[in-house]
Amino acid sequence: MEKIIIAGPCAAESREQVLGSALSMKERGIPILRASLWKPRTKPGFDGVGTDGVSWLAEATKMGITVATEVLLPDHVGGVLDGIEKEGDPEKVLLWLGSRNQSHLIQREIALRMRNEAPITVKLMIKNQPWNDEAHWLGIIDHVTDAGFPSERILLCHRGFHPNGGENPMGLRNLPDFEMAMRVRELTGLPMLVDLSHIAGNVDKIPMIAEKAKKYDMDGYMVEVHPNPSVAKTDARQQLNMDEFDKLLGQL
Ligand code: PEP
Ligand code: MN
Repeated sequence: MEKIIIAGPCAAESREQVLGSALSMKERGIPILRASLWKPRTKPGFDGVGTDGVSWLAEATKMGITVATEVLLPDHVGGVLDGIEKEGDPEKVLLWLGSRNQSHLIQREIALRMRNEAPITVKLMIKNQPWNDEAHWLGIIDHVTDAGFPSERILLCHRGFHPNGGENPMGLRNLPDFEMAMRVRELTGLPMLVDLSHIAGNVDKIPMIAEKAKKYDMDGYMVEVHPNPSVAKTDARQQLNMDEFDKLLGQL
């Protein structure tokens, strides 16, 4: 089966950056562009362009690419979908629940809004929470489907677990548990992607994580790619430039 690849910048930063990235992905046949609008940070600072970036994503959909962004609050669902409907193609959207929205109430409300407001082509990706707990990850999926969101429109993504001061000989940002990811994939019957970037935490470690992930029969990969990583406003160290991305695609 062909792997699903979601690639693009960590954060949407400007119209030029989003559309330049969309063009680069189109040229490489990558069907889904990622770019986060909301970026809650450890400390106050750049926390994403928010709804100002929706029109850039809308423009990207008009290039025929699907756009993927994280929704942290229920209102983000309408904020993204309405904006894209006005200026782009609302069918070409994927929204995701990231590691930082771990209130089941919010997860359910996001799922409900998506069920009621999104075209049926719009999918929801569920990333695992930061701490290592299989039952919690399965619980998010249960809450989302129990809120009425159809499982046929759900994807999963393993982004590793916070090391929490434990053993981390490779110095990874987040520790993968590919066996657990495979189990969750089996138990739910849902497609499982691997977020290489948030596991590796550094460009140098991405090929090694890709090699490890390849041994499992996952359904695809998410990877951060920036037109000029040195000036990226978030996660600069882990975003690939286009040459590095081309090499990774060869490897995958
Ligand atoms: C992301 O993919 O942009 C992100 C913030 O990842 P996570 O929620 O897995 O930390
Ligand atoms: Mn990131």
